[in-house]
Order: sequence, then C-alpha cells, then structure tokens
Amino acid sequence: FLISFEGSEGSGKSTQISRIADRFEDAGYEVIVTREPGGTPIGEEIRHTLMHAAEGHNMMPETELLLFAASRAQLVREVILPAVEAGKIVLCDRFMDSTTVYQGVARNIQSEPVHMINTFAVGETKPDVTVVIDLDAEVGLQRVKHRANDLPDRMEKENIEFYQKVRNGYLMLAKAMPERFIVVDGELHRDELENAIWKQLRQRVI
Ligand code: C5P
Repeated sequence: FLISFEGSEGSGKSTQISRIADRFEDAGYEVIVTREPGGTPIGEEIRHTLMHAAEGHNMMPETELLLFAASRAQLVREVILPAVEAGKIVLCDRFMDSTTVYQGVARNIQSEPVHMINTFAVGETKPDVTVVIDLDAEVGLQRVKHRANDLPDRMEKENIEFYQKVRNGYLMLAKAMPERFIVVDGELHRDELENAIWKQLRQRVI
C-alpha cells in the first residue's frame, strides 16, 4: 500500500507521517517512511543538486521538473515497489502530486508534459491514497517563518501567491480524484489532525 502525504509549508506533514507510521505499526503492519526528493543514495544526490544548484546560476523550472522526476523514478524502483510487493505500508512525504502542483500549477509548466514525465517516472506505481493537509497559505508561512530553512531562493519561500496556487492546485486534484484523495484541515490541533487522518486511512487500508 502506498500512501502519499501532500501539503505546503507548515502544514505539519512530517509530524503526521511519523505519528501515522506509529499507528500502523501498532496495528501490526510493517511500515516504511520515505521522502522525496531523496530517499535513495542517488535520489539524495539529486536532492543536493536541487537544493544547491551551482552558485549564481538559475535553475530553470524544466530542469527542476526533470530532477524531481529522476529522483522519484529511482525511489519507486529501489524502495517503494519492492516494499509494496512485500506487503508493507509505504508512507511517502510528497510524491507525484507535488510535481503537478509545484512545477505544473505554481510554476506554470504545461500540464501535458508534466503529466507525461510524471507517468513515465512512476510507471504503474501510483499512490493508493493521498492525504492532503490543507492549510491557508498565510497561516502556513507564518508557521515556518522561524524555521531554519536551507531552501534555495527560487523556491520562493516568501511569495504568498505562489503558495496560494499550491494550495488551490492540491484542492483541484482532490476534487478531480475523490476516490484517491483525503483532505484534512491543517488548522486542527496536531492530535485531532492525527485522529482525523487515522480514521480515514483505517477505513481505506485496514
Ligand atoms: O517537503 P518539504 O515541505 O520539506 O519541501 C520543501 C519545499 O520544496 C517546498 O515547500 C517547495 O518549495 C519545494 N518543492 C518544490 N517542488 C516539489 C517539491 C517541493 O518546489 N515538487
């Protein structure tokens, strides 16, 4: 079972992923938690390139798209697919919908090449369930303001419109594919949020 977690800055994705991993383990499942970009030695090198592109040089959105896809292609074949085939639950911090939303909707790359590259990268390995932690862009940015952040400038950490587009992009995807998506309210207290996510995942997975 592959479960991806999506959401923008400050949505609390990583906290919820580790809590949900504990819940599945308590229920007797073997769980693998992974992240992208990264998650494999090759993927981590690609992550490094994405985060620290040659000083003074501007990484183009198209380059960014291909690097994210490359990292994902490796992760799928090296980690996710073998784990899913072994009956494990894989929780992935971001997956193909991040590309659709960040590089496609927010950075304006046409949806057709984004879809094609995404599909090529993952093959048959699509998420069974995707949890979107939905949060107002302003609230999210306030939350991460004081966080030590090594994101490169092009990832526009302060640009509110960018994150509004990200939020709307996720909501659009969820509306288009209600059978795959679970949308939860990121303004809930973290315990309540955990309960809300667990309740819905349990219905779909266990
Ligand atoms: O997963 P995390 O929130 O740590 O991601 C950090 C940032 O990486 C995102 O907020 C976003 O700015 C950027 N990102 C991106 N395109 C993706 C995935 C992440 O620009 N496909």
